[in-house]
Amino acid sequence: MTALFRAYPDLEKKVHHHPLCDLPTPVEPLPDLQAELELDGLYVKRDDQTHAVYGGNKVRKLEFTLGEALRFRHNTVITFGFAGSNHATATAVHASRLNLTCLSMLLPQPNATYVRRNLLLSHAHNAQLQVFTKKFHLSLATLKESLKRGFKTGKTPYIIPPGGTSPIGALGFVNAALELKDQIDAGVLPPPDRIYVPLGTAGTSVGLLIGLKSVGLETRLVPVRVVPRDFANLGGIARLFRETVAFLRSKDPSFPKLVWCADDFRIEDGFLGDGYAHFTEAGMAAMDMARALGGLHLDGSYSGKAMAALVAHSRAGVLKGRRVLFWNTLNSRDFSPLIENVDAASLPSSLHEYFLQPVQRLDRGD
Ligand SMILES: *Cc1c(COP(=O)(O)O)cnc(C)c1O
Repeated sequence: MTALFRAYPDLEKKVHHHPLCDLPTPVEPLPDLQAELELDGLYVKRDDQTHAVYGGNKVRKLEFTLGEALRFRHNTVITFGFAGSNHATATAVHASRLNLTCLSMLLPQPNATYVRRNLLLSHAHNAQLQVFTKKFHLSLATLKESLKRGFKTGKTPYIIPPGGTSPIGALGFVNAALELKDQIDAGVLPPPDRIYVPLGTAGTSVGLLIGLKSVGLETRLVPVRVVPRDFANLGGIARLFRETVAFLRSKDPSFPKLVWCADDFRIEDGFLGDGYAHFTEAGMAAMDMARALGGLHLDGSYSGKAMAALVAHSRAGVLKGRRVLFWNTLNSRDFSPLIENVDAASLPSSLHEYFLQPVQRLDRGD
């Protein structure tokens, strides 16, 4: 049963939720990487395995957002992201499995092999992909699609914000923190001193922070920035925190009245490099190390940058005597068979450039 509902039974009746994930995701020790980094403990939370077809952190949020879409009988969802967005891909896959039409409104990003693979997987799940070079055009097109589909089917599409991040989506990670607490109580791992997690739209980290605080864990979150400030700033993050807590308390007043404290959320800003989805030397080196010593498959846009921060902090000695948990947010399921026979030429022509143009210099072809 969902950890959140076990802790707050009243929420189960009032919060819409559609189970998608295989939970709890495992927590595993990383002894070789721990020894190399001279830590007192190093573990990985395997959210890369949230689902057998397409996992990663986004599926936890979709349990709640798609849960709401189904509850209110929407037949279409609209979501947003950059061209290779893991969130848009996860939404395409899981919406399609629930017989919902998925519209993905996309913005350009640096090219990479995973961008091509994600686009092909979305397309294989019949997602309708549209790309825009200007946010304004994207907003207009979203409005147009909403009205058009509203008239045609009598039901406007359900809107899932970028990254699946909203007070509803963040519940997936409040739930994840309670799940972690259960694993700690069961002796799967000792209480970690630090959790390293990439910071994108912040739903993952804010949900985790709320969950950790609600169960009284003193674990410090280390959100590692992988998007520029205009996508995730402290003002917006504080608002998401307050709205999520307020939402939970409106459904179950026994949920603790947590207050935002900026000191709980110290963003590590030093590993973004040239910007979102621009791979960095430090990120690629951390990916190699995590693969060689921990068997982890990480990426250049998110998880590699978070691992780079973990490595740099241990090298600088600030993690001496600490127990660290690395939250693996990246899908690790191999979906190659699902895209083998998908022809890139059948994608909208505005996306062809990702298949024709070279990938960025540091790309490893995965
Ligand atoms: C989206 C994403 C993140 C960031 O999660 P947010 O909730 O948007 O902060 C981290 N890692 C991976 C692999 C992602 O796809």
